[in-house]
Amino acid sequence: MKIAVFSTKAYDRKFLEKACQKYPHELTFLETRLTPATVGLAQNCDGVCVFVNDQLDAEVLSSMHQQGIRFVALRCAGFNNVALQTAKQLGIVVVRVPAYSPHAVAEHTAGLVLTLNRKLHRAYARVRDGNFSLDGLLGFDLVDRTVGIVGTGQIGTVFAKIMSGFGCRLLGYDKFPSETCRGLGMQYVELNELFSESDIISLHCPLTPETHHLINQQTIASMKEGVMIINTSRGAVIDTQAVIAGLKTGKIGHLGLDVYEEEADVFFEDLSNKVIPDDALSRLLTFPNVIITGHQAFFTEEAMMCIAETTLRNITEIAESSSCKNQL
Ligand code: NAD
Repeated sequence: MKIAVFSTKAYDRKFLEKACQKYPHELTFLETRLTPATVGLAQNCDGVCVFVNDQLDAEVLSSMHQQGIRFVALRCAGFNNVALQTAKQLGIVVVRVPAYSPHAVAEHTAGLVLTLNRKLHRAYARVRDGNFSLDGLLGFDLVDRTVGIVGTGQIGTVFAKIMSGFGCRLLGYDKFPSETCRGLGMQYVELNELFSESDIISLHCPLTPETHHLINQQTIASMKEGVMIINTSRGAVIDTQAVIAGLKTGKIGHLGLDVYEEEADVFFEDLSNKVIPDDALSRLLTFPNVIITGHQAFFTEEAMMCIAETTLRNITEIAESSSCKNQL
């Protein structure tokens, strides 16, 4: 199989090249994102391999179809960036990596909670500057605090286990409750109750029409004063303007984001010598009680290896039988 691999950095290539050693596939690595302007780069390929911010809308899929491209191999679990119906109509097979390391994402989520609560990001900079004062660094004990988890699938469940270890009370919201979470003492409640009772709210649901802007002006108004909100799921689950307003009034006491609704043009790029083109992102970065990481929650050795190996296995299954167990 000849595959155009979009959105690749040196670290992606390292893991994919290693995983590809045992297969006869030909990988062409491209740094650019897949968009209507770049889809032509996949000419003469059997398939494309893509990541979270590649654009697989009807326009791009139609161009791919015209070029004879047969499949899309996602290097991620989420597939909100793919027009699945169109892909089905065009006969383009879409495969994904349904699970790699839920631990990677859940542990990063816990890292955001701890860093925000104990203000480690500020303490780090302060001490290095010779300032050993504690003013402004006051945190709270996690024990007995209420953690609300929206989406208790693979990642939400691991996060629940971690927070249970801190002695937190767990509330959950999911249409398909997890017995493992129940076993940890999690109480499943309606979303409004989760929002109004939680000290920390962590989002682990997929981005769907139902979860789009789940965190908005109304839902924020129903939350506790000074609530901590963490989003490591998908950016558009949060209405950015609403959280900025909530941060300005103090309603939101801490915000940890690994994803951002307009991340596609910014994340994974080094803009340190450039002007950030996004005003809302720039505003978020001015708050001392906001931490943003650039979609790095998945980024561990184990997860990268698993993503690369599963992707190559998916492609091989398509080559051998035109279908794959990880097909959407
Ligand atoms: P999963 O499918 O195992 O779990 C998702 C859970 O959300 C399921 O239990 C599902 O029933 C639930 N859900 C669906 N709609 C819901 C709704 N409207 N309200 C509440 N819950 C709902 O997926 P996962 O592996 O745990 O991943 C969760 C999300 O994390 C993914 O969809 C992806 O967007 C995101 N993710 C982010 C990173 C990162 O690096 N930041 C990495 C991997 C995954």
